[in-house]
Amino acid sequence: MPTQLRQDIYVIKVPLPNNPLRDLNSYYIRGKERDLLIDTGFNLDACYDALTTGLRELGADMARTDLMLTHFHSDHCGLYDRVSRPGTRVFMGEKDLALHRLAPTGGLWSQAAGLSLGFSPAELRENMSANPAVTAVPEHKTEILPLLGGDILEVGDYALQAVHTPGHTPGHICLYDAERETLFCGDSILYDITPVISIWPDRPGALASYLSTLQKMRTLRVKYAYAAHRQPCGNLGERAEQLLEHHYKRLDDVSAVLVRHAGGSCYELASFMKWQIRAASWAEFPVSQRWFATAEAASHLEYLWQQGKAGRELDGGVWRYYPRGIS
Ligand SMILES: [Zn+2]
Repeated sequence: MPTQLRQDIYVIKVPLPNNPLRDLNSYYIRGKERDLLIDTGFNLDACYDALTTGLRELGADMARTDLMLTHFHSDHCGLYDRVSRPGTRVFMGEKDLALHRLAPTGGLWSQAAGLSLGFSPAELRENMSANPAVTAVPEHKTEILPLLGGDILEVGDYALQAVHTPGHTPGHICLYDAERETLFCGDSILYDITPVISIWPDRPGALASYLSTLQKMRTLRVKYAYAAHRQPCGNLGERAEQLLEHHYKRLDDVSAVLVRHAGGSCYELASFMKWQIRAASWAEFPVSQRWFATAEAASHLEYLWQQGKAGRELDGGVWRYYPRGIS
């Protein structure tokens, strides 16, 4: 049963089977002529059943409901084809939409990108065949309209402005109603887990962008900030501060590992870092977790490199990192 959070705002919990995120918060805002649904879940029957049951219980008519996808990851956009009806307008930030059109998972899952992080071809194959981020993608049949920063979606009394919040993805969008001090955060802010910040396939700067997004959010006037996974609502400013501290601490950790293991690939350096996963050793991490850990290490290493605090060189297609001054 969907939970009513405020007048006209509901959350449908969509389970994400066998996934550490556990569930997706799909938000439904009841308007007057048209309603709005934010994010959908993977293209899996378990997600589809939970989402459509919730929509039925709310009496939603998808022909007069718009759908906003905060970013291109398939736990958010996986079901847009299956739940859209003629009359549904589907929106996504223009930068993520470009990546979505290029490849459903945004390209980071390509063989070359994986190999450059230091994965073996066998591990990459295993990861890609098992991970719903690659397998549970949408069908790509319905047209998606690009949303630009500053665009406004009107739903009932809400005027939700698209705010470009890059970091988790290059074109991540939050929806903000300044007057009602309400923000739909997508994966930019999560309260009880840390959003994954991995590298972007085509350009550096994921972590640098995310840190400026957090700086912006820290001072935003918001009373109700709705996150896309786990606990729906919390204190935005406080959480943004905590996440900034987390990444500064992580940068210190990565620098320390780099000094001890100069010349390591992202994969090798990640294996020496501490992760909150219940496994006896790096080798026993599920491959999908090794993937996310390595991608997260990569974004921090790349940031150190951009700041002139690390060197790197491409060695047979693999990025190898060094403490500053060596390469
Ligand atoms: Zn997500």
